[in-house]
Amino acid sequence: MSLNALTPYLVGLLAVGVPLGLWLAGSTRAAAGGKESPVPVSAQWNALTPEQSRVIESCGTEPPFSGAYVNHHQDGTYTCARCGAPLFSSEAKFDSRSGWPSFDEALPGAVEELVDPDGHRVEIRCARCGGHLGHVFRGEGYTEEDTRHCVNSLSLGFSEAPLAEAYFAGGCFWGVEHYLQAVPGVKSVVSGYMGGDKPNPTYREVSTGRTGYAETVQVRYDPHQVQYRELAKLFFEIHDPTQRGRQGPDIGDQYRSAVFTVSEEQAAATSELITTLKRRGYDVATEVKPAGVFWPAEDYHQDYYQRTGKTPYCHARVERF
Ligand SMILES: [Zn+2]
Repeated sequence: MSLNALTPYLVGLLAVGVPLGLWLAGSTRAAAGGKESPVPVSAQWNALTPEQSRVIESCGTEPPFSGAYVNHHQDGTYTCARCGAPLFSSEAKFDSRSGWPSFDEALPGAVEELVDPDGHRVEIRCARCGGHLGHVFRGEGYTEEDTRHCVNSLSLGFSEAPLAEAYFAGGCFWGVEHYLQAVPGVKSVVSGYMGGDKPNPTYREVSTGRTGYAETVQVRYDPHQVQYRELAKLFFEIHDPTQRGRQGPDIGDQYRSAVFTVSEEQAAATSELITTLKRRGYDVATEVKPAGVFWPAEDYHQDYYQRTGKTPYCHARVERF
């Protein structure tokens, strides 16, 4: 977001009495003018047993071959025992004979890595809640990925239901992520980029507005708990789908309104909602395209509002249906 792009917005802020210095002192995407009420995310987390707490909250390790998921071979998704975020697909699980569940790949953006204080081992944590999972090892040659996420069973939950995916672009991904994350049945929302061609795009590249990429969120949800149509409806209410090449204070092609669909059903449901909006007088600018490759954004973009306890500056819900 350039200062030029911000000017009309800043003028508006000053008009409502937000001190400019205070606002600029925060992040360039601070919750300007919003109520700074911390999101009580911990209230949504599962209660932990003392054993789980020792592992997840105090970086403990369960004894080898003791966990429920060491010899577990069902199809499904392994989730964070504390916050429920999906972490590993059963397809990534392999038998390392180490005594702990082993996965050669984490779901995109699901796990963060931190080098241990000893400088050797690399700890892995749930990217959503920061709960300790275990360690990651590379170069052991177990599988083609050459990576072993060695995870405590106590840090994991398991869901048999295959999760569905949806992709929405509606301006700054922080705000879109914030609202979709709160929907019951949504298991994870990851901020990233879709719509361009260059592999591994960076935020800086996408910010030029010339890559074809749009700031996009990936939503993983349980289709038994929430339907795609409900998510798409909410998407059309938390951003202004009539804006072209921008969203609120954010100007540029990367902030355009777009829905990237993974099935005919998603495309049909989206078109139907757009038709309804047009009938109600909205000149909808949203582009609807089949989903391409999704690139998760840099770690510091994930869960921005949850981590900072701020509220979105760029998105608010407006009922349109
Ligand atoms: Zn978690």
